[in-house]
Amino acid sequence: MQELLERVRAAAAPAALCGKVADYIPALASADPAALGIAVVDAEGNEYAAGDARRRFSIQSISKVLALAYVMTERGEEAVFSRVGKEPTGDPFNSIIRLETSAGRKPFNPLINAGAIVVSGLMPGSSPLDKGERFRAFVGSLLGRGDVARDDAVYGSEKSTAARNRSIAWFLKELGLLPGDVEDTLDVYFRQCAVSVDAVDLARIGAILCLDGVDPVRRGRVLAARTARVCKSLMVTCGMYDGSGEFAVDVGIPAKSGVGGGIMATVRDRFGLGVYGPALDERGNSAAGLAALARLSDELDLRVL
Ligand code: GLU
Repeated sequence: MQELLERVRAAAAPAALCGKVADYIPALASADPAALGIAVVDAEGNEYAAGDARRRFSIQSISKVLALAYVMTERGEEAVFSRVGKEPTGDPFNSIIRLETSAGRKPFNPLINAGAIVVSGLMPGSSPLDKGERFRAFVGSLLGRGDVARDDAVYGSEKSTAARNRSIAWFLKELGLLPGDVEDTLDVYFRQCAVSVDAVDLARIGAILCLDGVDPVRRGRVLAARTARVCKSLMVTCGMYDGSGEFAVDVGIPAKSGVGGGIMATVRDRFGLGVYGPALDERGNSAAGLAALARLSDELDLRVL
């Protein structure tokens, strides 16, 4: 496996040249576009890593899956899905258009920004800081460690530039989908997106999802099976932005990407995978990460779709 990961990394690395590091959040622009890390955790808890798999980056949209799992755990499935749908959109992650035009007048799914902001608004806690800290503790509980960090430069950078997310959030308020203060809810969302992880962390959480909520490293249940399954189903249909259909065809496994350059993927009963490559394609997915996952899918026969 180690040799395979090194080989896949070498083959996928040139794909980064076709991508571009995100800069709409200014603090993301300083990432090294050539970085590429790949990690795999198998169903027995064995861990393999190649390249920049231990380099930290902000989790960004991958947090939407974890926030969904967290709020489903804390508040129940109905609390989420009475306010957010389960359907893909085919629109970019930060699109606002369907909030007004769709008959349901609620976000299509929890993995686009509009749906994720509604989910952030459901997190328990007494203040944005407390909610953000509890979410961070939840991520730590999945990873089995208490030192999960937040990248405060990224947090501050997004908070001071997020005009589009503010527009979305105010629209959600108008629709009656945000109970609390709009700026407070956005603050929780920015905090969750700035949680700092590496590719190995993503592979570890992917491995928990692959076993429907059982951690193969600690050999115990850390998420309800239903929660893990809901997350994986939405990852298949909505996890790779408006490239989710193409990813299902090319790679064929549940996955979620973030504009920090990470992708978390999971293969039922077999593997969790994490990749990091901050040069993104035009849809916001890691260019080299996609190439690496497509190759791994072929070589390890990962396709479950
Ligand atoms: N914090 C980012 C935003 O809301 C997350 C986007 C992403 O990773 O897709 O724009």
